[in-house]
Amino acid sequence: IFKDYVFGFPKESDMVVTVDKNLKLKVASDSKDILVKNLYLSCDPYMRLLMTNRSSEIFGPYTPGTPITGFGVSKVIDSRNPEFKEGDLVWGITGWECWEETEQPKQSESTTGMPGLTAYGGFYEVCAPKKGEYVFVSAASGAVGQLVGQFAKLMGCYVVGSAGTQDKVELLKNKFGFDDAFNYKEEPDLNAALKRYFPEGIDIYFENVEGKMLDAVILNMRVHGRIAVCGMISQYNRDQPEGVHNLMSIVYKRVRIEGFAVFDYYPQYSKFLDFILPYIREGKVKYVEDIVEGLENGPAALIGLFSGCNVGKQVIVIAPQ
Ligand code: NDP
Repeated sequence: IFKDYVFGFPKESDMVVTVDKNLKLKVASDSKDILVKNLYLSCDPYMRLLMTNRSSEIFGPYTPGTPITGFGVSKVIDSRNPEFKEGDLVWGITGWECWEETEQPKQSESTTGMPGLTAYGGFYEVCAPKKGEYVFVSAASGAVGQLVGQFAKLMGCYVVGSAGTQDKVELLKNKFGFDDAFNYKEEPDLNAALKRYFPEGIDIYFENVEGKMLDAVILNMRVHGRIAVCGMISQYNRDQPEGVHNLMSIVYKRVRIEGFAVFDYYPQYSKFLDFILPYIREGKVKYVEDIVEGLENGPAALIGLFSGCNVGKQVIVIAPQ
């Protein structure tokens, strides 16, 4: 349950797990409803934006006193809807709710879900990459960034990622095949760091963080470069945005900055699966997930995203299939 609107950095105590012993779950026979059991829940940075009472163009805020919602994979338990039958697996937005379980869950796969589609649409459509271009990805070991880097390599680009620990840097280079990577927390001058990694400048920046990183990147873009604005995680816990200062370079370099939202690409979901599944089966696209078990561990996992506790896609496993 989401307790109340959050200011600053979220805490575990902003959420509480409750038990309802009187809940009766059934689907009305004269409806087209389905009843689902949650199997996996996804922790995503945008959920922090729903914890404020500030209005957003696309997100409605959570209602204090009700369960938080997020992406999940669920199994259909009962259905009055001809499009779904008992046992079907579905994904979409679901409440952070579960039935009491005792069995041990299996592992999930998230690359083919929302973050995968985000990386696919954002990189191939918004960035419009060309072979040989110089690509920079921030929050690169996260669910979206790890895929963007691999897509850039498939395209024949040179790709560098930034992440917040040395272990994540090694993961980017050794598992995901980035050409290079660095720990942004150990770089006192991000502008100098980017000049070191991109002496000829950056053609494509896949933006996940904003703040000081975006300011430094702007100074290092090449003429006619593209910045795909996927997210701005460094700003989500701030009551006032930090602001960027080097925007005049956008004019000098004629850079295109374009935001996008994953739901723009929902109609392309089957095309995305046809693209990525063969690569995953052949081991040419790899992914790392960070799994916690049980809804009671959900709040800690969710807020851990904002201090980089997760390595790869943060998933909560609720129940076995
Ligand atoms: P993850 O939840 O997988 O990882 C988040 C990572 O961000 C953390 O592990 C941490 O890694 C890094 N991070 C946290 N705080 C900061 C900070 N202050 N400065 C820099 N890095 C920070 O992320 P996703 O891959 O799921 O999401 C990445 C971005 O994409 C987010 O901004 C998200 O909101 C956005 N997004 C946008 C979508 C859209 O439709 N436009 C859809 C999905 C995601 P580290 O150790 O490297 O600091």
